[in-house]
Amino acid sequence: MIAEETIVATEQRDDSRRTHFINMTLAVLADCGNSGTTLARIANRANVSPALLVHYFGDKDSLLGAAFQHLVNQFQHDTTQALKSAPTWRARIAAIVGCCLDSSQFRKDVGSVWLAFWGQAIHVPAIMEVQRIYQEQLLSNLSNALRPVLSEDQILPVATTIGALIDGIWLRAALQGVDEADTQAVVEQIGNFVDSCIAGRQAQKLSLPAIQQAIPDTCKSWIDGRPFASTGARFTTLNPATGEILAHVESATAHELDAAIESAGRGQKIWAAMSGTERGRILRRAADLLRENSRLLAHLETLDTGKPIAETQAVDIHSGADALEYYGSLAATINGEAMDLGSDAFGYTRREPLGITAGIGAWNYPLQIACWKSAPALACGNAMIFKPSELTPLTALRLAEIYRQAGLPDGVFNVLAGGRETGELLATAPAIRKVSLTGSVGTGRQVMASAAQSLKYVTLELGGKSPLIIFDDADIGNAVSAALLANFYSGGEICSNGTRVFVHQNIHEQFIAALKARVEKMRIGQPLDPKTQVGSLVSHDHMEKVLGYIELGKREGATLLTGGHRVTDGALAAGAFVAPTVFTNCTDDMRIMREEIFGPVMSVTTFTDEDEVVARANNTEFGLAAGIFTQNLARGHRVISRLEAGTCWINNYNITPIEMPFGGVKQSGLGRENSRLALEHYTQVKSVYVALGNVDSPY
Ligand code: NAD
Repeated sequence: MIAEETIVATEQRDDSRRTHFINMTLAVLADCGNSGTTLARIANRANVSPALLVHYFGDKDSLLGAAFQHLVNQFQHDTTQALKSAPTWRARIAAIVGCCLDSSQFRKDVGSVWLAFWGQAIHVPAIMEVQRIYQEQLLSNLSNALRPVLSEDQILPVATTIGALIDGIWLRAALQGVDEADTQAVVEQIGNFVDSCIAGRQAQKLSLPAIQQAIPDTCKSWIDGRPFASTGARFTTLNPATGEILAHVESATAHELDAAIESAGRGQKIWAAMSGTERGRILRRAADLLRENSRLLAHLETLDTGKPIAETQAVDIHSGADALEYYGSLAATINGEAMDLGSDAFGYTRREPLGITAGIGAWNYPLQIACWKSAPALACGNAMIFKPSELTPLTALRLAEIYRQAGLPDGVFNVLAGGRETGELLATAPAIRKVSLTGSVGTGRQVMASAAQSLKYVTLELGGKSPLIIFDDADIGNAVSAALLANFYSGGEICSNGTRVFVHQNIHEQFIAALKARVEKMRIGQPLDPKTQVGSLVSHDHMEKVLGYIELGKREGATLLTGGHRVTDGALAAGAFVAPTVFTNCTDDMRIMREEIFGPVMSVTTFTDEDEVVARANNTEFGLAAGIFTQNLARGHRVISRLEAGTCWINNYNITPIEMPFGGVKQSGLGRENSRLALEHYTQVKSVYVALGNVDSPY
């Protein structure tokens, strides 16, 4: 029987022999590189026979694998030791970088051994495996260091970038010279990089308390440069994704209207007396402030509307800021014309402001609507009293603060909170010379009737049931993208949506297959989650209306391709979430094809002939928008010229640059927003005749 001590002694001897052979291998590699390293050379250096090496390690590749493992273990041990005495994330990153880029790592012998291993990794599985473990350990060390300061989704990408930086610097320095591996400078650069990632994260994820602080318990109207208490009834504005109360809101009554008109009258005189250049400067400053505050504003908009933060951050606030910037730039160019009337006279016109104007907003793009209305009104020298929708009053009140901060005289932009009654007060008030409404067709008719009592100008941006026509030569991928944007962006709560999708019979099958696949990949989720693509509808009442239309579509005999239900998974059960829904085999007489649903519901039908589709597209009381997809541009222009719609797109949908007029025909509205045209809706023309000679009188 062999004694235990003998076994232990044998194992110890074997271990120290292995270590010795590994050290000899590393020495030969350092001298001769991989190609010059043979079992015979290593055996010679170790003073043993090659057969003994084979006995301990097998072939050369296994010996190299064991040697590399030894090196990596050593490295990992050093790193672990260094990390033990590193108390902060910066110190831990410095420790890791220090171990990797320590000057000893670039000594010719050490460097050439590492290079030999890296070079062999792709050829030798044993080495590849060790290098995989090495990279994993490096990433794990970096990730652990970063965990206290970065969010889970940031950690791996940032750690990978730092790892790549370290590897790159090491490789360059090992090949070129140690100078490039200024460890101190690298640690500093990496620290700056991580700082910027942390700042990005903080900016992206405003803390809930910071957002809540921005919402007063009770929202008051904003009159004459400050919040104005009201005696009117209080109502609440809710977060539709959770059902939670965001704030209480005081309704403005006739008393607040009088105060707003009085203050607007005063403010407007000061404002109109300023030059266009001065007014423009203030509007552009407000645009900058909107952009500076865009994250907070986007969060407020998302809380109030339920729309995904990814959208409100990318579109809503910036589109509002674009309007302020655009009209700020035009303010100094608002001029009349001169007329040559012969040698005895000339004439000219002045474009003068209307005075006090009113804006009444819908709930789907609250801040954008407030900007689209107030920017041209103010650029022309008017004052505006704005009433946001009762469902989404938060951001218009912030806009009023921003205008004040930018230098707008008090009273030039007042906000009256409230619902229909407050809107009616504005539409009827004789002192208000113009009302611009964004809302439904029914409300448009009421506002126009109210405005008629005092012969106000009206601009009406109303509802729609717009056609999107896809010809058989269309790029199907683009057409599907546009159909998705035209129906599901902002939860389908967009007035100009192309909800009647006419697809040419020849490509119908292909189109539907691609559409279904992409709709079913859409991410429905909490609106504040940056990955969410479909958020909550604006209210539970509105969700019931949308679900009612979905049931109607089923009863009417349309084929439900996908969606068609409320989404109640987990915490979403508390909100107003509806799955993106597509009906196919729709016919023109179905109510889902005729009425505005204003939710995520697309109705698809087929056509075969150009004349047929134009007639069917126009067979509606609405005329807000239309889109067509075709590679044949002659057909594109021909069809667009025959469509009864105010805003049209060829090979895209729902793009609304501030430079282009936006608005509807037929029951979809009157007048235009955006572009130079809007300036005409906020000015009145004064004609002036100037005589240069005597008065020629028969009397
Ligand atoms: P809505 O018509 O119910 O309300 C719009 C605004 O009008 C609200 O501020 C509301 O308080 C106010 N209002 C209601 N009755 C009024 C009255 N009698 N007098 C004065 N003001 C009154 O519309 P909504 O539900 O808020 O928004 C959805 C509608 O808006 C949809 O029909 C949509 O198509 C339309 N919309 C149109 C555009 C566009 O640019 N054309 C843009 C967005 C929304």
